[in-house]
Amino acid sequence: MLTSPLANSAPRKLSPARASGPTPNKKVWKSDGNIVLATDKHLYRVHKSVLSENSLVFRDMLDLASPDSDDGEKSPEGDGASENGPNSWEGLPVVRLRDKDEELEYLLRALYSRRFFRVHEQSTVPIVTGLLNLSNKYDVPDLRYDVVKHLQRYFPSTLEEYKLRDNHKIFAHFDDADLHRLLALAHHCNARVVLPVLFYLCALVDERLYENIYASHVPPHVFQIIREGGKKLRTGTWEVIDRGSRKRTSGQDCSSKSCKARRGYYYVAEYYKFCRTPFDDDDNKSKDVRYFCANCKYAAFSRISCVPGELWEKLPSFFDLPEWNVLKAEVDSESADEFN
Ligand SMILES: [Zn+2]
Repeated sequence: MLTSPLANSAPRKLSPARASGPTPNKKVWKSDGNIVLATDKHLYRVHKSVLSENSLVFRDMLDLASPDSDDGEKSPEGDGASENGPNSWEGLPVVRLRDKDEELEYLLRALYSRRFFRVHEQSTVPIVTGLLNLSNKYDVPDLRYDVVKHLQRYFPSTLEEYKLRDNHKIFAHFDDADLHRLLALAHHCNARVVLPVLFYLCALVDERLYENIYASHVPPHVFQIIREGGKKLRTGTWEVIDRGSRKRTSGQDCSSKSCKARRGYYYVAEYYKFCRTPFDDDDNKSKDVRYFCANCKYAAFSRISCVPGELWEKLPSFFDLPEWNVLKAEVDSESADEFN
């Protein structure tokens, strides 16, 4: 059942709620569009075909919302005609969505313009997170794939790429609060390939900051993974270093008193350095080998230089994720054509 179009109503007769209701968003108002999407703030006149070709969820939803249908329009949450506004706009069906207005605008602009969001070109946190959220919710596989690829540049899956990440400004601005919100969203959207580095970076944040600040940005179960993962990371770091130092000691027993006396201190000191920055190149690492004999020096250097690589391989496991190869394969399988 369709109520009278808003355009035909005299403004004076509108209730206050309706008078302050959604208005056309000029950035996404296609004059030949054949459907209107509505949030609490804006109306978006778009094309059913564009929505259906890109989104499996919209395709199903619009089948239900076709004007021929007896049920009239349906929002994905299941409420048809409602108190929030009219069912049609100048004769076009209106579909009300409960998404954040700005996120829906970003999604629609991305669907209509290749320029709005491009992989690996600088964007903003609200745009990238909005696109991830709604491409996931509305099952827009191509866009979701692009957003995950975009994030992978900054939250990569290889140690080599990780060392280059600071060269890639995929966000105009990014802080620790953004980091935690992005982790929560990527976890919710199951964008698992970017989770190890997101979790890792969150786990490095000083615990004292959590109580009052960052804990509120992530759900409790994600917060738990950060805290537990941080502990596993530190334990794992010690295991990698300690295993190496034992192998060294048992392999070729150096009889030098100086080497023996300093070996323990050396590896403990290295452990603390790795706990601060396991993967970042750090000139201070391995400098305290000057008291070792040549053999022990070489052993220490080669041992310590292996630690970042070994820790990187284990990184996903610290945060309850499968190994890197599985995570990378997931992304590539997502690019497979769901629309055939
Ligand atoms: Zn020695």
